[in-house]
Amino acid sequence: MKPAKPYKIYIMQYAARDTHTSQILLGDLHRLPVGMAYYMWALSNGEHTVVVDMGFTEEVCKMRERSWVADPAARLDAVGIDPAKVEHVIVTHMHWDHVGNYALFPNATFYVQEDEMAFWTGPYAKYQVFQRSMEIDDVVALVRHNYGGRIGFCQGTEGIVPGIRVHRVSGHTKGMQIVEVATASGTAVVASDASHYYRNYQEHTPFTTLHGIPGFLDGFELVRRLASREELILPGHDPQVLQRHPLHCEGVAVLE
Ligand SMILES: [Zn+2]
Repeated sequence: MKPAKPYKIYIMQYAARDTHTSQILLGDLHRLPVGMAYYMWALSNGEHTVVVDMGFTEEVCKMRERSWVADPAARLDAVGIDPAKVEHVIVTHMHWDHVGNYALFPNATFYVQEDEMAFWTGPYAKYQVFQRSMEIDDVVALVRHNYGGRIGFCQGTEGIVPGIRVHRVSGHTKGMQIVEVATASGTAVVASDASHYYRNYQEHTPFTTLHGIPGFLDGFELVRRLASREELILPGHDPQVLQRHPLHCEGVAVLE
């Protein structure tokens, strides 16, 4: 099989918040101030376009008191992507900050791990400790999309298009998945919330919202094993990502 044309990865920030280290590193007692960035990612090689996660809406942003940076649709426009034409959207997990803008993608299939959908529609969904990471309308929307034949269920490792694969890692959520991407620099990994910050995988320390510690630790190992180099790992919420990669335009960095 001929190798896939290398992808560019656009890292698009659409929101922010201020938090502290005890929120982002399990067991940290220092409470040092730290910023949090909210990203979506777009993978494009001229033949295929895949969007990874959808971000939340401005309405939910206000309700949850985050700082709105830019409209996700405007970010996609800035990298030349018309969301109405996007056919593939990978959902790394179903937390509220990753699945809000499904309405932007009327023609997409949403790729989600079977475990993830099962968990958020199963017996543990009744508990507040899990519900606070969710917007029920987003869950219902994805269930509706399933009835409409628009969910691509993944089990473990699956190819989405040539050069892009997902891998289930669990840890942060039951069916958390990461995205392996062939770029001109080597294999890159969109870790999303398998490692919110560089420090999570570097220090083998999970984020504080979690499904299970062993799954998180295994996920860190897999992220590092898949990526050709550490510079090709993209954490889910670290503001430093936009400083470590060249800017494509304001609020959007590119890895190629
Ligand atoms: Zn997140």
